[in-house]
Amino acid sequence: MKVLVTGGAGYIGSVTVEQLIKAGHQVAVFDNLSQGHCAAIHEDAEFIAGDLANRDGIDNAITGFRPDAVMHFAAKSLVGESMQFPFLYLGDNVRNGLNLLESVVEHGIQKFILSSTANLFDEPETIPIDEQERIVPGSPYGESKYILERMLHWLDRTDKLRFAALRYFNAAGATQSRGEDHDPETHLIPLVLQVALGQRKDIKVFGDDYETPDGTCVRDYIHVADLAQAHRLALHAIDQKSQVYNLGNGLGFSVQQVLDAARKITGHSISSEVVGRRPGDVATLVAASDKVRADLGWKPEHPEISQIIESAWRWHSDHPHGYEK
Ligand code: UDP
Repeated sequence: MKVLVTGGAGYIGSVTVEQLIKAGHQVAVFDNLSQGHCAAIHEDAEFIAGDLANRDGIDNAITGFRPDAVMHFAAKSLVGESMQFPFLYLGDNVRNGLNLLESVVEHGIQKFILSSTANLFDEPETIPIDEQERIVPGSPYGESKYILERMLHWLDRTDKLRFAALRYFNAAGATQSRGEDHDPETHLIPLVLQVALGQRKDIKVFGDDYETPDGTCVRDYIHVADLAQAHRLALHAIDQKSQVYNLGNGLGFSVQQVLDAARKITGHSISSEVVGRRPGDVATLVAASDKVRADLGWKPEHPEISQIIESAWRWHSDHPHGYEK
């Protein structure tokens, strides 16, 4: 299949491209490199430099490459930033997604896969969180993804395309050659590893008074290669029916457990200090992954937090300053 991947130079996008190519698909990466990295783009992928704000650029990419499916990763994705600059999300993320969808539908492309988010579940009533859970976006970021999910719902209802929306929990880990390189970095595991690498003095633990076993927040860390695998499987499954999937390991680990595991793996003491809660954090976010397992036959290959951190540690040790710039 020919797959156009927006954001294929980014963290999850580039690992998905790696797996698509390994499985024999032909891939074009559409990316403006504002957050992605040239060095993350797979050597066998066609690279189309372009910005989703520019409809002509998207149309040209689609008429030139003629994809059978589009996977849409390119977006701003920081909850905190979205609280500070809501229009980067309610504006740019939504407008760019709409531009892409208009072009996709006009060119008759029938398959679309959206990167969505667990930030749709700000007030979960049942843990683990399944697809029936009430949607309460936790930020302009979550809202921007929900708006795109709703657009897809109507494009499906009007028979324009079939889609899968994959609501990621906490993507983490690395493959041999691709890993996490954000600027600024805000995610727990790479920050913890920066302390182990001597690049950061300590890790601030955002609150230890949550209603969780050790008081620190519990998250569902899912290996980026397992996430990527779900995209590949979804490509085939949506022929039958559009779907939304909550995509996590189904296992929760606290900030404290992540720290303990990282200390063991790296052999560094990784000093930490408990500070106040981070606005917007909820105590526990863990996915019920039964639906994605049953429908797609998906199963995480790296479910243990130790495997996830080990892979990230290998990548960060090999690339202490991230990708070559
Ligand atoms: N966290 C922390 N210190 C940090 C960064 C993150 O204690 O420097 C906590 C954060 O409060 C959350 C968990 O680690 O409970 C995972 O945060 P991350 O930003 O990696 O992902 P999120 O869950 O926000 O998507």
